[in-house]
Amino acid sequence: KNIKQYFPIKGGLFKQTVGHIKAVDGISLSIYKNETIALVGESGCGKSTTGKMILRLIQPTDGAIIYNGKNIVELSNSQFRELRRDIQIVFQDPYSSLNPRMTVRQLLLEPLLTHKLMNGKAAEQEIKEIIQNVGLTEKSLTKYPHEFSGGQRQRISIARALVLKPKFLVLDEPVSALDVSIQAQILNLLDNLQKKYDLTYLFISHDLNVVRHVSDRIAVMYLGNIVEVATKEQLFSNPKHPYSRALISAIPKTHPNDTVERILLKGEIPDPSNPPQGCPFHTRCQFAMEDCKKERIEMTKLSEDHEVACILYENN
Ligand code: SF4
Ligand code: MG
Repeated sequence: KNIKQYFPIKGGLFKQTVGHIKAVDGISLSIYKNETIALVGESGCGKSTTGKMILRLIQPTDGAIIYNGKNIVELSNSQFRELRRDIQIVFQDPYSSLNPRMTVRQLLLEPLLTHKLMNGKAAEQEIKEIIQNVGLTEKSLTKYPHEFSGGQRQRISIARALVLKPKFLVLDEPVSALDVSIQAQILNLLDNLQKKYDLTYLFISHDLNVVRHVSDRIAVMYLGNIVEVATKEQLFSNPKHPYSRALISAIPKTHPNDTVERILLKGEIPDPSNPPQGCPFHTRCQFAMEDCKKERIEMTKLSEDHEVACILYENN
């Protein structure tokens, strides 16, 4: 609810705060149990920062993050530790997120031991089951991360995230570093695991083609703001926000008789330390008018599951 992340910019003779990078500028979003909701947008729009705030890897500057009725932001460290089991993250680059000096067995046992969930035989049994559920053999347990391909390493990261039996996973560009052929395998795996373990996913991606395969709903971010939230079907067939429309129109055509005309965005993404007043998109929007530059544009509900922050849809 209204989450902000303003990173201070230090400068001057005394390294004082001279401004802020508004990485996330007041976003609100509901995530429902067992769904996959995608957070899409270009790099630097605040997607990963949002994921990190949910994991409490960084504290929001403002706002509330409510998980099962508890505001994560206000919990003490020991209170959060209990919740931390429920909420896990998988990063884009499995190479840097897996300690290269640990075997897969050690990598998977570590969370169980740290959280004092299991030890001895039960723990060994548990990790054997998990490694098979992500499509690797028991033999992999004795190997080191560098002995695997990128796709296999991502399977190990997923296994490590699952070992604590979480309920909610933040998947931060989980397939972006992989070849397209491998991407589909990992996406299928994530889909199967979601059913098997009753998981909820926040799927962060810049790639609408990937998102198209995995998500139930999609939230589009631009410059620290969520500008549209819709079901996948609605967003792809009937995008409303001018930014969403440009993103969808830029997807390479899969059908030769696809007639969607490509909308080219003019200009660059503005500097997040000095974002535009009013609608963050007005500097690049072909429909921008004076009123777009004044006040923050709030979400307008178009239907039960379609919302957009754009003046063109207000009072309809
Ligand atoms: Fe364009 Fe105005 Fe809508 Fe922003 S609010 S997307 S500038 S029409
Ligand atoms: Mg699914």
